[in-house]
Amino acid sequence: MDAEKDNGQSQAPGAGPLSVVRDGQIHRVRPLDRGALPPIAEARPEAIRAAVERARAAQDAWRTRSFDERARALEAAARAMLERRNEVMALVEREGGKLPVDAMFTEALGPLDAVSGWKRVAKPAMRQRVRLNPLAFPKKKARIELVPRGVIGIIAPWNFPVSGLYRSVIPALMTGNGVVLKPSEHTAESSAWLAKVLAEHLPEGLIEVVQGGGAVGAALLESGIDACVFTGSCATGAKVRVRCAELGIPSSVEMGGNDAAIVLADCDLDRTVAGLTHWALQNAGQSCGAIEIAYVDARIADRLVRRLGDAWAKLRVGQGDFAEVEVNPLTTERQLAIVEAHVADALAKGAKLVTGGRRVEPGLFYAPTLLDHCTERMDVVREETFGPVLAIVRVDGAADAIRRTNEGRYGLGASIWTSDLARAERLAERLDVGVVTVNNHSMTGAIPDLPWSGVRATGFGIANSALSLTTFCRPKTLLLDANDAPEPFWMPFDASTFELGDLLADAQLMRVGRAWKLPLLLAKRARRIKQFFR
Ligand code: NAD
Repeated sequence: MDAEKDNGQSQAPGAGPLSVVRDGQIHRVRPLDRGALPPIAEARPEAIRAAVERARAAQDAWRTRSFDERARALEAAARAMLERRNEVMALVEREGGKLPVDAMFTEALGPLDAVSGWKRVAKPAMRQRVRLNPLAFPKKKARIELVPRGVIGIIAPWNFPVSGLYRSVIPALMTGNGVVLKPSEHTAESSAWLAKVLAEHLPEGLIEVVQGGGAVGAALLESGIDACVFTGSCATGAKVRVRCAELGIPSSVEMGGNDAAIVLADCDLDRTVAGLTHWALQNAGQSCGAIEIAYVDARIADRLVRRLGDAWAKLRVGQGDFAEVEVNPLTTERQLAIVEAHVADALAKGAKLVTGGRRVEPGLFYAPTLLDHCTERMDVVREETFGPVLAIVRVDGAADAIRRTNEGRYGLGASIWTSDLARAERLAERLDVGVVTVNNHSMTGAIPDLPWSGVRATGFGIANSALSLTTFCRPKTLLLDANDAPEPFWMPFDASTFELGDLLADAQLMRVGRAWKLPLLLAKRARRIKQFFR
């Protein structure tokens, strides 16, 4: 009998195996009803290397096409994705447990916006003129060009298996690269669907998919890729970052989050209750940018908790017609186990359960769970729960909330809920996280113009915005010199060369007493150089 093993990743306490590998295949369950999903066959190392070689061969011609031509091909693919949205919604429901309305807004609606956004962001960055001071650099023109690195390896998580790839696959291809994608084993077919539709509009081999678990991700790093974009857990991200550094290839590594909402006493309570509900429970909290903690001013905490508790108890979860269910199930058995372990830890350490705290059959559903009187000793506050759970921590005003947020292990996002926008701007300056949102949360993750980045355990990878393009491209400097005479500081050197330098140093210090000598010195240098090379 074949030994069963997990796929080599670290396990959270209390969690079951991430996925079971048997006979070289990964076995998974359907989140909505725990039925069996088709197993995923693991790609072998030689097949992974061949995929990288095919992508490289196709990239050679793709990079020479104009930016607009590449963007047009991607736009055609994005239109096809929108046309075929029912296909992707069915896949993310089957593999990820995403309910139709959630899948529509978070997975199906975005491809065309993403392509046009990346066109807006990347096109001006691909070739930038740099103005040089004409006195210091006469008759010279300079520009920066971004050159595609070659083949980008993309290792993806399962929580947004289609739309989560817009920020990596689209800019990689648009800037002239080939792509080899390693989807999460849990949502293998959903991510492969994106690659398939793209491939129908792109040169053969330009985008390749290699399926499997952690071993396949690790093998992809060894297969000759030129850069890596990794999104996933801290434990895996740390390994990927180290290996890429050893291989000498750039990597952008984006890891977990444990975002806080800072709720101030002057907030608009109606909007805050609705906003916290959405951003804590969307995709059952399985988003790196989900609100997991609310630092609530103690003066309004009773009111906020009552309003949230009443609302969450009414949300439909896991029963009846799925078209009417509002909160998705967890995507994996392991994730459900982590959520249960974190809630149990909080209750054991004195948190008060306001609502939820239980599984809802069928499938991997878990009731929206509100925990009051939480503290930093609890896993729900300290760690990433990645579930439909919100930990309320009562605080003594804004300064207390900011201090606690900045002391958190992760540093992806935070939001401030207040009616005083001017004060919010001042408070935002003191928050040590990558994304601050006022009276909203994490909505910027889908906007290609704005960087999605973090500090501390979240990692320093940058997704979205022109700042992310150095993962996909290397900068190349071009200087064009229209001078016919040699430069005055070129060889051969003599006393006049030194004097010229000395005079220029004084001029920078605004000591201009000898400035009258400058034309004489320049003429002397020109004569000397000319004679020397005659
Ligand atoms: P994970 O780390 O378990 O897996 C991520 C990917 O890495 C998968 O494709 C997996 O097969 C692969 N992998 C596993 N071991 C590997 C290895 N040794 N070498 C190379 N690849 C390997 O993460 P997950 O559970 O799929 O995703 C959830 C995590 O992703 C959460 O922590 C979440 O916060 C994070 N996430 C972060 C962002 C962000 O933008 N910061 C976005 C989405 C998800």
